[in-house]
Amino acid sequence: MVNLHLEIRDLFLVEERVKTFKNWPFSDNNTCNVRNMAEAGFYSIATGIDDADTAKCFLCGKELDGWEASDDPWAEHKSHAAKCAFVQLGKKEDELLLSEFLSILKQYMSNETKRLAEVTKELTDEKAKAVRRRCLGRN
Ligand SMILES: [Zn+2]
Repeated sequence: MVNLHLEIRDLFLVEERVKTFKNWPFSDNNTCNVRNMAEAGFYSIATGIDDADTAKCFLCGKELDGWEASDDPWAEHKSHAAKCAFVQLGKKEDELLLSEFLSILKQYMSNETKRLAEVTKELTDEKAKAVRRRCLGRN
């Protein structure tokens, strides 16, 4: 099945990232709690219990799992994706200068546009395949 995310998401906002952590296995007392994860750019891409601790950076797309309670999300992000523009700024959302925020937003929107184009292409390909099958069936 094609994953239908045919709209621009607001994951560049920390509060929107916080909302994605529904079954995060760590509590607020742990270093890798939801707030710290979201502030470090991560959102949850968990689909169930098995991958409950899988998170992805909203900007560079780096996916990380196998988190431990004492992991520092910023440090992990930095060690696994040093080139990420968000990591390089190294600031929480409310500490970003407007120009920094806009530069992040621009990059995010550019990534999202590419993602939407890919999803649209997949959907179109599937439709085309279905039409072709129907046509062949009739011949
Ligand atoms: Zn990143």
